[in-house]
Amino acid sequence: MTNKYMYFIANWKMFGDLKTINSLDKVIKFSKSHKKNKFKLIYCPPNTLIRPISKRLSKTNIEVGAQNSHQNLDYGAFTGQVNARMLKSVGAKYVILGHSENRMAGENDNLINLKIKNSIKSGLKIIFCIGETIKQKRDKKTNQVLNSQLKKGLKSIKKINDIIIAYEPVWSIGTGLIPSSEELFKSIKFIKSKFGKKSPKVLYGGSVNSKNIDQLKIIPDIDGFLIGGASQNPKKFIDIIKKTIN
Ligand code: PEP
Repeated sequence: MTNKYMYFIANWKMFGDLKTINSLDKVIKFSKSHKKNKFKLIYCPPNTLIRPISKRLSKTNIEVGAQNSHQNLDYGAFTGQVNARMLKSVGAKYVILGHSENRMAGENDNLINLKIKNSIKSGLKIIFCIGETIKQKRDKKTNQVLNSQLKKGLKSIKKINDIIIAYEPVWSIGTGLIPSSEELFKSIKFIKSKFGKKSPKVLYGGSVNSKNIDQLKIIPDIDGFLIGGASQNPKKFIDIIKKTIN
């Protein structure tokens, strides 16, 4: 049982259609029956589902986020792109930025920094993902990588309160692998140490499921979880939440 205010963020990635939204009803029911509990649920579906999901969640305290945003503050000739203001206008309150799947597709720290700045200016809160690759971990460069991603990604950003950090080791995403308790403890502590007393929330993400959650939830200082695959199944998602808060 934890007394801390915990975040559970569902990253649906490129999954889901209008029928999938019905799966939220179980989670809404669960959330309503746990009104006194201190936890925050945030759904980050594909852009196509932000509006219908935010409507479905309108009488709940579950919030909605997007999975990426274009860096431009205004409209522009950027085929296939959506900026933070547009995401906000359809109901997003958060946006995931710096996810390793987008870093691997070519996003660098400078671009992520610009996206963070302009998404904050547009009124979104940021779920900022950082994490080392397996090679960087083997080369014992985890702290160096985290430090650099934090420094460059958050350069000149003063509104740290608008940011939630998700520590997601690249090698743990979708692989079933998770860091040892000691490794995770050290990384979360390291990230928080960069901010002094005013540290943002730091979540863990990477292969979180209802079997390994007991091992993950006991890490001191962890403020919640960013959950990919398991969040698409309401039963699995609820199990993770229940096991964390009970
Ligand atoms: C993610 O992609 O943010 C993630 C945590 O994925 P998974 O839980 O599937 O590893």
